[in-house]
Amino acid sequence: MTKHLLILGGGTSGTMMTNHLRRRLPADEWRMTVVDRSEKHLYQPGLLFLPFGIYQESDILRDTRDFIPRGAEFIQSEIERISQESHLVTLSGGRELVYDILIIATGCRTAPEETEGMLGPKWRVNVHDFYTLDGARALRSKLAEFQGGRVVVHVNEMPIKCPVAPLEFTFLADTFFRERGLRDRITLTYVTPLSGAFTKPRASKKLSHLLGDKGIELVTDFVAERVDQEHDKLVCYDGREVPYDLLITTPTNMGDASVQRSSIGDDLNYIPTHKHTLQSLKDPDVFVIGDATNLPASKAGSVAHFESETLADNILLHIAGKPLKEEFDGHSNCFIESGNGKALLIDFSYEHEPHEGRFPFRFGPLRLLEESRLNHWGKLAFRHVYWNLLLKGRPLPGISRTKKKPIDSKTTKES
Ligand SMILES: Cc1cc2nc3c(=O)[nH]c(=O)nc-3n(C[C@H](O)[C@H](O)[C@H](O)COP(=O)(O)OP(=O)(O)OC[C@H]3O[C@@H](n4cnc5c(N)ncnc54)[C@H](O)[C@@H]3O)c2cc1C
Repeated sequence: MTKHLLILGGGTSGTMMTNHLRRRLPADEWRMTVVDRSEKHLYQPGLLFLPFGIYQESDILRDTRDFIPRGAEFIQSEIERISQESHLVTLSGGRELVYDILIIATGCRTAPEETEGMLGPKWRVNVHDFYTLDGARALRSKLAEFQGGRVVVHVNEMPIKCPVAPLEFTFLADTFFRERGLRDRITLTYVTPLSGAFTKPRASKKLSHLLGDKGIELVTDFVAERVDQEHDKLVCYDGREVPYDLLITTPTNMGDASVQRSSIGDDLNYIPTHKHTLQSLKDPDVFVIGDATNLPASKAGSVAHFESETLADNILLHIAGKPLKEEFDGHSNCFIESGNGKALLIDFSYEHEPHEGRFPFRFGPLRLLEESRLNHWGKLAFRHVYWNLLLKGRPLPGISRTKKKPIDSKTTKES
């Protein structure tokens, strides 16, 4: 009798896993099913560019089915509940799917309802977000008409997916307003719950300098108690206030509600996962990948890509009854748009901080932790890499799943 591999979520991770494993599992022994609520695949890094009119919706949306390989079934449905004891997943409408192996790739979502006052009457009037397609669209309209005032870019709580995206947004906004001759009429402020611009100390130092150079104020250690929409200000637990005319917030991120309904997650609905094997800590037949995990790695597509290569090997080892590879090392890399047609590139892992040097080969051509035009073009080119290689589970030339030992002498261990 054929066995069943069930994949929950057909976003970045779920699609990559389906492609990896359909190539590697015999079709007469394993059938595969992917479930997602959406028939459209959204290239989320493109949400950064949509509000500025750099990308259009047609650049960042594709049919989900176009990336599901032959031999895997796609079901469009809401996932209601996962019952690990009975190896069963219930979909909305009551349909039940029994699995032999389950991969949970349900990602994470923004939860503006978690902050008092955020979803008040001025939500998407002068309180905006860009982490959702609707949010990015509304912000595009707002920016097109904005003529001046206090613009505040805000991160509510960590972890968030793509932790550099709000900073990138701030740099791009600076360029956007300069190009329109409006920058003198605008104050730009970046408000974060962290003690610096970013989570990693070396990158944070570099990015704080960039903010200063561009005349962007940095407000740190700001844990928002509420958004006071009546007086247009953010209020911190310690009593500090940041007034705004336009607030661009990144709300609290949380794992999917189906994780909560299934009682398999932590307080933020992230699923306890082995940080090197990607096996669930509760059930050996369940594996977790991407933003849905509770791992101390970045929630990023690049991380999901590196994880997918280890996880594909581990699923085959698990089926063969062999020990899993404890291989995933938190490897992450990310282009950081810094405005004026430039970007930085960072590469790090659980153990190693972002460092200087060249990427992906010893000779480059890309530079790490330094602004360059080539990095910016790399970021824009990544969209094509995503659609054509990454989602299909194809290797990316020169880029290995584990972090190469940094050759930069200044590299320190993560503090
Ligand atoms: C603005 C922005 C910029 C970003 N920039 C970058 C970048 O430059 N580089 C980078 O590496 N990463 C970036 N990311 C992060 C990256 O997009 C995510 O980390 C990546 O998509 C995670 O993949 P995933 O498969 O875990 O989750 P997702 O891709 O979000 O997929 C989850 C899927 O599960 C489905 N799903 C969830 N719950 C249910 C349910 N109950 N029923 C049915 N379906 C369900 C969803 O519909 C979705 O399709 C960015 C993200 C944002 C928002």
